[in-house]
Amino acid sequence: MATIARPVTGALRLQGKVAVITGGASGIGEETAKTFVAHGAKVIIADIQDAAGEKLARELGGPDTARYIHCDVSQEEHVAAAVDLSVSAYGGLHVMFNNAGVSGPGGPVDEILMADFDRAYGVLLKGAFLGVKHAARVMKPEQSGSIITTSSVVAQVAGGPLPYTTFKAALLGLTRAAALELRDFNIRVNTISPGAIWTPIMNILPKNVLDELQTTSFFPAMKTSVSHKIAGPDCIANAALFLASDESSYVSGEDLAVDGSHLLLAGTSL
Ligand code: NAD
Repeated sequence: MATIARPVTGALRLQGKVAVITGGASGIGEETAKTFVAHGAKVIIADIQDAAGEKLARELGGPDTARYIHCDVSQEEHVAAAVDLSVSAYGGLHVMFNNAGVSGPGGPVDEILMADFDRAYGVLLKGAFLGVKHAARVMKPEQSGSIITTSSVVAQVAGGPLPYTTFKAALLGLTRAAALELRDFNIRVNTISPGAIWTPIMNILPKNVLDELQTTSFFPAMKTSVSHKIAGPDCIANAALFLASDESSYVSGEDLAVDGSHLLLAGTSL
């Protein structure tokens, strides 16, 4: 029987790979950028928070390792430019992480403003579609790549603002359709569905809920376990690391829930 090379625990799992991370200046994207660079990748941080994105790129080693580009994911030319930068600066694109997101607005369905609905659509669904489209453009000739999109547990069980829930659910369909189409090009397409993750997006929650989560559920010094109601962004970064690496070379069209069993608790409160 042939001997199969196995990744060694602790080894650099993304050595030689290049990743574009949208929403990379904050929260899950920021943590993922740090994790990917720690594992040998070069990263393009694509976001609309210029100061935070530039600062993170400097912290991660500057232009040799990490670059920031202003990229509103709802604008096709911005996403195309982020992908093109990965090729011109680092010689290719191996991992596309469609992670940019906004949460609001909520409220009753008959009161949702179309401008708010369209904005959520632009970032969450159109933005991810553009990421898939332009990643495929450069990955297909190379016959290789991993595209990862951040969905949410609300895609399965609702519970978020209506537009957010709608577009997060649509990302599962986008992922399956793209995975099927791109499998012959050896391009894998998957989603991650986080449960509650401690990032700035949580600031839409009422203060008393935030205080309760902080004091009773999670504090940064503590390693997250499934018994916690909220997790650190490292939990999602590690899931993205797996899907980005060759360790997941036979995984495509899947949704990986990283939620401390939140989906099993569907119907109960957090
Ligand atoms: P975050 O607010 O820290 O990060 C979101 C990032 O997206 C920010 O840097 C923001 O500037 C960026 N962004 C917003 N609009 C953009 C646009 N038009 N173009 C480019 N970038 C834009 O929040 P987060 O929790 O890290 O969110 C990351 C992803 O995780 C989002 O897709 C979010 O929906 C998803 N998610 C988060 C949670 C959670 O509990 N935190 C749960 C499920 C899913």
